[in-house]
Amino acid sequence: MKSVSLIAVLALLTATPLAAQSQHAAVEAQALDLVKRAIALRSVAGPGNQTADVAALFRDALVAGGFSAGDIEITPVDDTAYMIARWPGSDPKLKPLVISGHIDVVEAKPEDWERDPFTAIVENGYLYGRGATDMKLDAALAVASLIELKREGYKPRRTIVLEFSGDEETAMKTSGIIAEKLKDAELVLNIDGGGGKLSEDGKPLYFTWQGAEKTYADFELTVTNPGGHSSAPRKENAINQLAAALVRIGQYRFKPEISDLTRSYFVEAAKYEDAETAAAMRAFAANPGDEAAIATLSANPSKIGEIGTTCVSTMITGGHAQNALPQRATANINCRIFPGHKPADIMAELARVAAEPAVVFKDVTVGAVPNDPSPMRPDFVAAVKKAMGRIHPGLPIFPSMSSGASDSMWFRYQHVPSYGASPIFIKESDEFAHGLNERTPISNISPAITYYLSLFTDLSR
Ligand SMILES: [Zn+2]
Repeated sequence: MKSVSLIAVLALLTATPLAAQSQHAAVEAQALDLVKRAIALRSVAGPGNQTADVAALFRDALVAGGFSAGDIEITPVDDTAYMIARWPGSDPKLKPLVISGHIDVVEAKPEDWERDPFTAIVENGYLYGRGATDMKLDAALAVASLIELKREGYKPRRTIVLEFSGDEETAMKTSGIIAEKLKDAELVLNIDGGGGKLSEDGKPLYFTWQGAEKTYADFELTVTNPGGHSSAPRKENAINQLAAALVRIGQYRFKPEISDLTRSYFVEAAKYEDAETAAAMRAFAANPGDEAAIATLSANPSKIGEIGTTCVSTMITGGHAQNALPQRATANINCRIFPGHKPADIMAELARVAAEPAVVFKDVTVGAVPNDPSPMRPDFVAAVKKAMGRIHPGLPIFPSMSSGASDSMWFRYQHVPSYGASPIFIKESDEFAHGLNERTPISNISPAITYYLSLFTDLSR
């Protein structure tokens, strides 16, 4: 009797998983098929840009998977296009969940690659091709996962919007348009940010979600003089005045800063650093005024940007003849501004530091907008923990701030919380996004689907 019931229980336990396994394999196959076809389309800015074709590929898959054609719009903009697909929720009072990505890729010159960048190839466990990492695989996984949720009969209470921008890698014009259109969103899940780190022997080490990015800014500094013959110098010299201002700016250190998000990051990420850096990260998290910790972190090029605003001189021009007093000298200062500050305030601070009234400051930033950090929302953090727990139980998860700029910037500019939370795990040595021979381990496909199915439902139910 006892053994019979045990067999019955075992049968019950295994019957569903087997069916579920083969269904899961079907979703994996669709994701792989979609990403291969997407990679074959050359969605690069400029002549022959096939971004609109990638949008059409995903739209057709969604419609075949049960989305209404009328809920998906593809809008051409210049040489590219963006896609917005809606899955209406049952409760119109709830603000939508936006799943955000992009379908353009960085240029790739076939002659420089070992394989054709626009022919997807699976070899030795890797998917190769332009967009394999950034981010056609994530896009295909999101599409296949949403189709699977439809097939399962899932009914979201909150409207789910899937959008793909078409020039994230270049002008970000479509990114700005989409964020303006979707500024009533509850939150944005950016599947082009965050991610997991694998050890060199392939074990998951940790997962980070991106909740903030620094604001990019370019300031032009100009000094103009009446000029004259170099044999008759005056006290004022445009090159010297500019140079003195640049030296003072170069010696200046912005006040170190910390946020809830970066504090949590310092505490968790310290575990993966050398002893000295780790001690400084922990000390800074405990007391952001700790001078010894600040000195250690400021001396580390990969850490200085994490503790505050940084500004550096990047370009300089001046003078017009070897034997003439300069009539003009110009420099560019590039800043990565800690979230929460207006670029105008940082520019005013630089002007005070320069202490040279002849220097005229101008904000010449193109394609970037200021943005606040997204709050550490408990609903999002819990949903990510649960989804990640399904694929890598017990794995450390912590937030991160990046130096920018992703499509999240445009949503945060509209005061919509946005979180980078791609489930792709990669080794340091496999990081070829934007570079040659871009590749991603295909072992990511199955867990990523499990993760997305959990995350998409938790944030829209
Ligand atoms: Zn990207």
